[in-house]
Amino acid sequence: MILAELKKLEQEAIAQIAQAADDAALERLRVQYLGRKGALTGILRSLRELPPEMRPQAGQEGNRVKQTLEQALSQAQESLQAAARDRQRRVGLDVTLPGRRPPLGRMHPITRITREICDIFIRLGFEVVEGPEVETDYYNFEALNIPKDHPARDMQDTFYISENVVLRTHTSPMQIRVMEQQPPPVRVIAPGKTYRRDSDLTHTPMFHQVEALLVDKHVTFADLKGVLTVFVHEIFDPSVGLRFRPSYFPFTEPSAEVDIACVICGGVGCRVCKETGWLEVIGAGMVHPEVFRFVGYDPEVYSGFAFGLGIERIAMLKYGIDDLRLFFENDLRFLRQF
Ligand SMILES: [Zn+2]
Repeated sequence: MILAELKKLEQEAIAQIAQAADDAALERLRVQYLGRKGALTGILRSLRELPPEMRPQAGQEGNRVKQTLEQALSQAQESLQAAARDRQRRVGLDVTLPGRRPPLGRMHPITRITREICDIFIRLGFEVVEGPEVETDYYNFEALNIPKDHPARDMQDTFYISENVVLRTHTSPMQIRVMEQQPPPVRVIAPGKTYRRDSDLTHTPMFHQVEALLVDKHVTFADLKGVLTVFVHEIFDPSVGLRFRPSYFPFTEPSAEVDIACVICGGVGCRVCKETGWLEVIGAGMVHPEVFRFVGYDPEVYSGFAFGLGIERIAMLKYGIDDLRLFFENDLRFLRQF
């Protein structure tokens, strides 16, 4: 009697599960049969009223039906999910739609200008070299003819790591590193990050420089002037004029500040050039004989020139950017313009 009841319930339930259209329908069936007040639960509960000799068989059959229904429910749920995935896949793939373009990265203006500067010097026969940003006092100062008590050290607000280790304040240490490694002739440029304890509208604690060094027999100031003129004409415009003013750097003699005619106003005078019509962009000079002695070059035989320039400065002038901080805020609306 009870066995027949179980059989009937099983068949009914299986048939209903097979027709369930969604997860909600399956859940309703689970409650209807297996829930605390469900049909099967009710039958199983009534087993204790059976005569003892009938209980084991009825109990066994009851448990079998319960397991069968649980299995049927979970299988039905899985196949519903698979069907849903299938539908989605078919709907999601419309081959007539135009393709989605992946977002394209852009080169940072500083990187762009650095590469542009390097390209110009590579065409002139220079080789690009790179070196450490954490530098010893020896390379950053001492070997560049800036001894411990030299006033020029005060001009450069240095980040000291320890007494003899600094964050390089300029790319000039590369002059020494290169000359130590090879005999003349030398023709290198060294781009890279440099650091000074400075922070305002026109200074950032980290900035970029390019250093150039050329050493050979019979190198003169005229060679320096020629190379710089070619560089300025290439990076800005062949019509841009240059002027050399006497200056002082401990590692060059004679030294010069190189100005270019203001590329914003064309030399008439504006806010950027402080109404002078000229912009100071490059520090240059002939390599000091003392520097040659530090690296074991004979200053009686060899001569050379060196110069350095700020990459941010060139980028600001070239792109007409008036706030240095824009380079480091990494605002995509700014960066996307390049
Ligand atoms: Zn100007």
